[in-house]
Formats: sequence, C-alpha cells, structure tokens
Amino acid sequence: MPDTSSHIRLISFDLDGTLTTPEFVDAVWRVGVPEHYAAKHGVRLAEARELVAHLYDCMGDDELNWYDLPFWVKYLKLDVPAEKLIAEYENLIALFPDVTATLSSLQQRHDLIIISNANRMFLDREVAVTGIEKYFKKIFSATSDFGRVKREEDIYRMVCERMNVSTAEIIHVGDHREFDFEAPQRIGIRAYYLDQSKKETGTHVIHSLDELRDILCRKGSESSL
Ligand SMILES: [Mg+2]
Repeated sequence: MPDTSSHIRLISFDLDGTLTTPEFVDAVWRVGVPEHYAAKHGVRLAEARELVAHLYDCMGDDELNWYDLPFWVKYLKLDVPAEKLIAEYENLIALFPDVTATLSSLQQRHDLIIISNANRMFLDREVAVTGIEKYFKKIFSATSDFGRVKREEDIYRMVCERMNVSTAEIIHVGDHREFDFEAPQRIGIRAYYLDQSKKETGTHVIHSLDELRDILCRKGSESSL
C-alpha cells in the first residue's frame, strides 16, 4: 500500500486554539479591553465586561472589524494604544504541549503554513514570542492580508494560488468547525477539525495534533484518509 500522505505538499494550520492556547487572546479581548473601558468611562468592571462582550456579539466574527483591535480602541474611545494592550498580556502567549514536536516532525516531509483569521498585530506577536516562525514557509492573516475571513472558501483558493499547489495537495487543520473545516472542504481541500474537548468524533475529527502527526506519518493504510 502507498504512503497516504506522499501527494500532500502543504499542511496548513490555524493559529489561535490550534497551535496557541486561548488565554492570551481571551485576556486581551475579555479582560484588557473591558478594564480600559471601565477606567476611561467610569463604570464598574463587571458592567464594562458585559457591555463589551455584547458589542462583540452584536458585530459577529464574520465582520473584519471584529478582529481589529485598533478599531475597538478607537470605537470605545480607550486611552491605550492597541500595541500596548497586546503587550500587557503577551506573557500569556503559549503553545499547546504537542505543537513543537508535531511541527518539527511534519516539517521533515511537508511544507507548513499558517492561515489565521487573527489580525497581523496579534499574529506577529504570537509567532515571535513562541518562536515557531522557523517551521513555516509562509504565514497568512486572512483578515490583514486578504481583507476576508476564513468562512469564505475563496481564502483557501487564494492561498493555494499563492503557494502554487492544487486543492488536492494541501491539508488544513484548525479548531473552528466552520472556518477551518467546512469552508476548505467546500472546495475539496482535505481538512481536519481539531476538537480538544473530545466531544466530537468522525473520520476527519482529531483531538490533538499528535493524532494528525500519526495520521500523516502512518504508512500503509488509506482507511482514515
Ligand atoms: Mg482557531
């Protein structure tokens, strides 16, 4: 039986919730922004948290501004530059435990890229602090580089064109069912849905990146692919 991953030239990863843990991003949006809002507008922190969360929800994550911290700083009239807000919490930037071993192993046989919805401001800090840039041939921010979100499958098509691969030659993996799983699948890209809560099961559902490494490095079976 053939090596099942031999025709795969490119493996694409989501960043937040897939490679990096959610604490940093959550702290910036759910703690930092409300704290600065409470300080500026003289409201209680609990009230500020509720209001800010409501505003995020009203906008929704298919809007580009949802990802744009400078937009929110201006919109909420905060007295803090976006860069400083990010710096306040960057000690929380961390990789999931199996990331380095997985990237290091997969890099020996495939080119690796990141396709993230995160704004460049977040993306660049996360990549710099974790030191993972060396594993990747290219790092794309859908929102900053293409002005789109990953819900639109065109993002994956554009990345394939830029990387000069067909949709049959790339695998994408990420923790957002719609952005990372359903959208790439709509144009024939093999995608894996990373569900670290282990609630979901299925042929293309994985519960850790270790599992992805096992699938791609396994030889002699096409059963799970
Ligand atoms: Mg994610």
